[in-house]
Amino acid sequence: MSNIKERLDEITGILPQSVRLVAVSKTKPMGDIQEAYDWGQRIFGENKVQELADKYEALPKDIEWHMIGHLQTNKVKYIASFVSLIHAVDSLKLLEVINQEGQKYNRIINCLLQFHIATEDTKFGLDYNEAVELLESAQYAAMQNIRIVGVMGMATYTDDTQRVRAEFHYLREIFCRLKQSYFSAGETFKELSMGMSGDYKIAVEEGSTLVRIGSSIFGERNYSKIN
Ligand SMILES: *Cc1c(COP(=O)(O)O)cnc(C)c1O
Repeated sequence: MSNIKERLDEITGILPQSVRLVAVSKTKPMGDIQEAYDWGQRIFGENKVQELADKYEALPKDIEWHMIGHLQTNKVKYIASFVSLIHAVDSLKLLEVINQEGQKYNRIINCLLQFHIATEDTKFGLDYNEAVELLESAQYAAMQNIRIVGVMGMATYTDDTQRVRAEFHYLREIFCRLKQSYFSAGETFKELSMGMSGDYKIAVEEGSTLVRIGSSIFGERNYSKIN
């Protein structure tokens, strides 16, 4: 039996029905994705625009492709026609560009707001006040071709599980506050994207609806030898 199948089975066996698995296939060859697909996996995540576009072209068209990495505004155009969910929206400017591209293709592009929840010093992610400012802006109110369906965050990379849990807990709190204040009408704001190979069990306990798991399915990544 293949490793990929065993690992997928193990993870999907642990996840509650309410949690969807994003299989993070970045740096991995088409063959690995096809294999996971053949075992029934349909959602895949990538963090580089070019790689995502190439894989979309080559692989079955019923795959749901998620862009999970930092996205530059000048690259949105390469994925706007097909991407199912953009996980890491961290500025009004980026949202505006996604909206414009969505308009070109006459589609509504689903997005998550990325929050900076780790104590690590990373460049990416909003804080709560920045998100409020974005959601109260006239520009956002006018956008017809994006839909914010939830939030995303990455916990600190650490063995300290208490800290990881606290960070996920905080993200859920942000999610609940935003939902109550800005998305109380309708059921579209519902995704909490949190949890990776090392911390997804904690994320699920803290209310994750989308886990993004790469190395636990496909094995360690080798960045010097892509495809
Ligand atoms: C690579 C990546 C993942 C998956 O990481 P693993 O530790 O391999 O599971 C999840 N989320 C983001 C944003 C990533 O870039």
